[in-house]
Amino acid sequence: MTDVDLLIRGARVFDGGGGAPSVADVAVRGDAIADVGPDLALRAAETVDAEGLALAPGFIDVHTHDDAVVLDPDGMAPKLTQGVTTVVTGNCGISLAPDPRAGRPAPTPPLDLLGGAGAFRFPRFADYLAALRALPPAVNVAPLVGHTALRARAMDALDRPATDAEIAAMRADLAEALAAGAIGLSTGLAYPPARFATTDEVAALAADVAAKGGLWTTHMRDERTGVVSAVAETIDVARRTGVRTLISHHKCAGAAAFGLSATTLAMIAEARKTLAIDLDVYPYTASSTVLLADFARDSARVTVSWSDPFPDAAGRDLSAIAAEWGVDAETALERLKPGGAIYHQMDEGDLRRILAFPPSLVGSDGLPRDRRPHPRLWGAFPRVLGRYVRDEGLLDLATAVAKMTGLTAAALRLRDRGRIAPGMKADLVLFDPERIADAATYEDPTRPALGVERVVVNGRTALARGALTGDRAGAVIGA
Ligand SMILES: [Zn+2]
Repeated sequence: MTDVDLLIRGARVFDGGGGAPSVADVAVRGDAIADVGPDLALRAAETVDAEGLALAPGFIDVHTHDDAVVLDPDGMAPKLTQGVTTVVTGNCGISLAPDPRAGRPAPTPPLDLLGGAGAFRFPRFADYLAALRALPPAVNVAPLVGHTALRARAMDALDRPATDAEIAAMRADLAEALAAGAIGLSTGLAYPPARFATTDEVAALAADVAAKGGLWTTHMRDERTGVVSAVAETIDVARRTGVRTLISHHKCAGAAAFGLSATTLAMIAEARKTLAIDLDVYPYTASSTVLLADFARDSARVTVSWSDPFPDAAGRDLSAIAAEWGVDAETALERLKPGGAIYHQMDEGDLRRILAFPPSLVGSDGLPRDRRPHPRLWGAFPRVLGRYVRDEGLLDLATAVAKMTGLTAAALRLRDRGRIAPGMKADLVLFDPERIADAATYEDPTRPALGVERVVVNGRTALARGALTGDRAGAVIGA
């Protein structure tokens, strides 16, 4: 006879609320946390001695492009090995559903960063969620629907503002997605297919999201020298519609924009006095997305992460490829399309300022489709806990954990996630705070993180002693 399924004994428990840890036992029954306290007198089917280790709520990756890879039964190793138990999909305007091709043979970039034409096989958002639930996934999925996907469905040409009829079509698709279980809408206004969307077009959709209590996440119109006006536009939409707003992967890209985070964070702090505005950040000074000439122009170095016509270009610098071909970098970039790249274009000072800003959340923005991905895919969370907490002291461990768990769950309105307390869902990560570190680098980007001992998703062990169990206990959550 046992009282509980799993008993984790003697860990330093960081409950996700940002306060000091305490040494306690944590008991799990079914998919929930049954009890938390010192020396629990319970008989357990499995007991884990966790003395010397840290126990936190499973990390919530608030910014992912995992829409397709969550459907792959073996696809979540990059996240589980970091201690991630929940991913938010559909960011930057890019979602796998509803099918954005609308008669086009291939998805319009940047939608193709999720996969090729074959990946886009869900006519409606409900079809996508049905496939996820049938699998089920190895982690929890909180899905967003992408504005660019809706735009590509509704419009024959994307280089202009939408008409009233096209906005009505987008609103109908948005309503279907929200009813099916999307937690909100994302926009990717910096990308060509959404750049011509007016603020009014965005606000029309955001108002529908607000009416359903949903979330709007935005890869803003400009993350370079125009980042200040982009933050102003974002705050304007939030104020006009009342939508809960999350600024994605906040950054100041290109040398001319370095230092502007002092201004943008002050604007966000002021807006937060009256509006629900959050932000996320990944702990690297290089960005990554599809091949875009204007991104390359502002970058000190550009490394190709994938290319359909030239697969072997992945991992090579654009400048070296251009020199070998005897062309300029922009010509080489055009020849490599469709493809993606890593853009070294940020300043460490801005990154540190944004990461240390109390409301900021940690997301990976990892790109699982890429042949030579940005190392954030495999390393974002341990990099914060290793490099920025232990090695550099930028944050304390409890604060960093809260940016991955409790604060994130609050921003997403995930009421039974992100905290260690009786009754909460049993998403947990046990790690060694002295050893946790990212091992993935730009040169070797798929090395699993170090120091993560055990990961529990909805009460079931997904990773033990550093090895994946293959169990898939994730759920579609949030709505
Ligand atoms: Zn983005």
